[in-house]
This record gives sequence, C-alpha cells and structure tokens, in this order.
Amino acid sequence: MKISRFAIALAASVSFVGPAFAATTALVGGNVVAIDGGAPITDATVLIDGERIVQVGPSASVAVPADAKIVPMKGKWLIPGLMNMHVHLGLKLPSATGNALLNETDAEEALRMAENARKTLQAGVTTVRLTHEDHGIDFALDRSIKAGEAVGPRIQSAGELIVPTGGHGFLEADGAAEFSKAARTQIKRGATWIKIAISGGISDTHGSISAAPMTDDELSTLIEVAHRNGVKVTAHNGSTEAALQALKFGIDCFEHGYHLNDEVLKQMKAKGVWLVPTAVVSQPGAYEFYKKIGSPDWYLDRVASTGKDHWAMLQKAIRMNINIALGTDQFPFEPNGGTTATVAEAELYVKAGMTPLQALQAATIQPAKMLGMDKDVGRIKVGQYADIVAVDADPTQDIAALRTIGFVMKGGTIYRDDANPAEIAR
Ligand SMILES: [Zn+2]
Repeated sequence: MKISRFAIALAASVSFVGPAFAATTALVGGNVVAIDGGAPITDATVLIDGERIVQVGPSASVAVPADAKIVPMKGKWLIPGLMNMHVHLGLKLPSATGNALLNETDAEEALRMAENARKTLQAGVTTVRLTHEDHGIDFALDRSIKAGEAVGPRIQSAGELIVPTGGHGFLEADGAAEFSKAARTQIKRGATWIKIAISGGISDTHGSISAAPMTDDELSTLIEVAHRNGVKVTAHNGSTEAALQALKFGIDCFEHGYHLNDEVLKQMKAKGVWLVPTAVVSQPGAYEFYKKIGSPDWYLDRVASTGKDHWAMLQKAIRMNINIALGTDQFPFEPNGGTTATVAEAELYVKAGMTPLQALQAATIQPAKMLGMDKDVGRIKVGQYADIVAVDADPTQDIAALRTIGFVMKGGTIYRDDANPAEIAR
C-alpha cells in the first residue's frame, strides 16, 4: 500500500511539467462569465491546484494560499478555453501554398503540425478535434504534447479520413470489410472519432457534391464498427441523399452541411445529431484567405456557389436549435477579418442568429458535450481542468470581445500572458 501511494505521488509530480508552472495559481479580480447563462461572478478569484480548478467565487470568499502564484485579472473577463471541432494541423489546400508542400515528408509535416499546434493554443484554443491528419502524425503529436515536449491544445482525433475510392480524401476503402479494417486501424492508432466523406467536397476537381457514393452495406458496417468500439462517426457531407442514408444508420455528426435540406435538419434535431458548420470557409471573408494562399479560380467559383446555400442552412439550423459545435476547417489561428478564424466563426454564428452566449457555448460547453469531455473541460468550475482564457470585455454582450484574447492557460499552466510576456518560458 505504501509503495503504490509513493508511486502515485511520484507519477503526479513528474507529470506536472511545463512553462510558468506553480503548484497553486490564483487568478484574482477578474469577472467569470456565466457560461450556462445568468449573471457573471464579478471580482472573482479562480484557484487552481496542479491541473484543475479547486475554487471559484467572489474574491472575498476565496482564501488564497500564501505560496500561490497570483495573476491579477482586474478588468478582465474569464471564459473557458475555446474548443475548435474541425481542425487539420497539417492542412494543405489546392493552392500555391499547398503545392509547395506536395513533397513534404512525414518528419517535415510533424514539425509543421507542432508549430501549428503551438499557434492554436496561443490563439486561445485549448481543445481541438482533428478531422483528418496524415499517417498517424496526429497521434505522435498528441503524445508529445502530453509528455510536455511539444506545446499545443488537448487533441481528440479521427486519424485519417476514410472514403470510397475516388472520394473526398486519401484513405480509400471499398466494401464493408475494407471500411471495417480502415476504421479499426484508426482506432488502434488512437482515434476517438472516425471521419468519413459521404459526398464530394469544395476542393475536389471531380465528382458532384450532391452524390451519395457509399453503399448501405459500407456505411452501416463502418458506423457499427465504430460504435462497438465506443467511437463516434462524423461525415464530411454536402449531399442530402447521403445525409439521409447516414442518419438511417446512426451517424453522430455532420461537417459543413453545405446543402442539408429541411428534412435532414429535422431528423438531426430529433436524433440529437451534431453539426460542425465551418462557416468561415464559404463566406465572403474567406476570399481574402484563398487569394492569399493562391487558390485557383475553379476553387473560388465552387466556394462562391456553395456559400449561399451554406449560409441559409446555418440560419435554419440555428432557428431549429440543432446541436452546433464550432469548427473552422482553417487553422484555428488563421488571420480572418482582423481576428482569427475561430473568433470569426463565432461571430458568424451571431450574424446567423445565435445570441453571443449561444455562440460562446458553441465554442465551449457544446463541443465538450459532443466529445463526451464535459466533466473535464468547457466550464470554469471546480473539478475541471484549468483551461481558461481572458478577454477585455464581456463576450456574452458582444462576441467581438473574443478579439481581445490576451491570456491563455491550459491545465493550470500559463501559455500566454500579454501583460507579462517575459514570464512565459515559450
Ligand atoms: Zn476539413
């Protein structure tokens, strides 16, 4: 008994590595946004011990230990770390920038992804869901971040995108047996989601977005295999026909949803199926981005023709109160309209009909629920990981307050503090 206790204590002490770390940290004097609605806690103190929050309340009611590291937060608004549910840290798009990466080796890609993971965390995004990365590099990066070698957000990953031959992706499979094998291979590597493409995509040069190329046998078997392993399935999809087919077999989530019609949205609502809209990729603000990376004209044409339907679908989904989790399909930190893609996405949700609070929830407690991680992340609450971001104003009044992120903590470690940049090790 004594030996095992010692082993546990030792394991705990070596796992707490990272920059600017103190055993106990107190964020003092800020306002904690009420993420479930209601009044904020003004002049609050958040006490963090190790990786988790141990106390939250009005400063007068929280006793701060003498040896705690004090971080003044007067005038700041504290929100849970943002969560971005459609990310590719190794993203390559049809463009001059993408073409330059055609001969990239896995080693080069791993280093590039590590740098993108660091920038993601700096942008206030403390959890991501990866919806395709190459060759298992994502799982290596996740292990490296957990070991304190690389810096980045918490990662949930689908591994490689599985598609029928000729589909919108890279890991091709045909027939139920090959789809089972492909799904099991990702799960063996560490996938907590399976991502499939059940229709074409904006970036394809062939095939129609509205087709449904998978057979019932392929789709139902793949979803069954994932669910038997406790893994959820999400689909890249722009097709109504493919969406109805996937809903019949128990799909958990749709990405983008460009052309989903009323019948699909109604079924999604009834079944609690999630939508990750990635509105930033098809709305006018994105053209600046596509021009910057040198995208070809045919790609810009497809973006424009898809954008109108996409926007109407998003407005409808919000009106119907469908489960929405924020995702960008661009780097979470990608510059967009004077802010990041993640913040721009949240602003688009407000423009499409959400209240600022709902948009903030779509970036915090909704993704946490979708991932099944809501006991650990998504709220500034006792027992949760101390994944906390500070901004200059109340984002539940004006979502544009997210443009002022100046402080990022993940698991009790401060990774960004614009008030004290010199204190951050890296
Ligand atoms: Zn994507």
